[in-house]
Amino acid sequence: MAPRWPGAAPPEDAGIDRLRRAARSCEGCDLYRDATQTVFGDGPDDARLLMVGEQPGDTEDREGEPFVGPAGRLLDRALEAAGIDRSQVYVTNAVKHFKFTRAEHGNRRLHKKPSRGETLACRPWLLAELDAVRPDLVVALGATAAQSLQGPEFRVTTQRGRLLDLDIEGAPKPYRFLATVHPSAVIRLSGDEREEALARFTADLRKAADAIARSR
Ligand code: SF4
Repeated sequence: MAPRWPGAAPPEDAGIDRLRRAARSCEGCDLYRDATQTVFGDGPDDARLLMVGEQPGDTEDREGEPFVGPAGRLLDRALEAAGIDRSQVYVTNAVKHFKFTRAEHGNRRLHKKPSRGETLACRPWLLAELDAVRPDLVVALGATAAQSLQGPEFRVTTQRGRLLDLDIEGAPKPYRFLATVHPSAVIRLSGDEREEALARFTADLRKAADAIARSR
């Protein structure tokens, strides 16, 4: 079946700044229509760790930066506990525009999971970021990011916290890869459940820190 949208078309062999500028006018799928702006990745363009989330949330959509809302604050906390300096991490999303529905009452925008087609349409931006940054380790936060990179059969539930290979056709090098949950999955919990989920999430990030230390 033909894809529903043309998909993203990043400039070839471009650095992060050029990619970011080009992505501002992307119309590779329909998600640009209702969102405020493209939210491209952020961080050092020579980062050794690249983290991929699902898509920008409400705060990120307004501010134009990834992981600056509640999930980003939880990620900051977990990174610090795992001994990872956030300023040394390149953070991005599998999908660069916020997908949402309106709440029935009021004007609140509610997160809506991107479809497989939308994720595939946006994938060229993610691969271009990988090409430009060439990290030692890629950490996928949640199923959308993990499946965008490893394919639709990948299951975070069974593979989380494992150090795996990530071979992408045409990539300048093979990457090491680790999948864990999205921080928003921790935020949704409360009480002891939340603390346990945060401890497990932090433990996954510690494995990432160890993997980077070993690759020096
Ligand atoms: S979600 Fe991705 S492919 Fe779709 S319009 Fe936005 S940047 Fe382009």
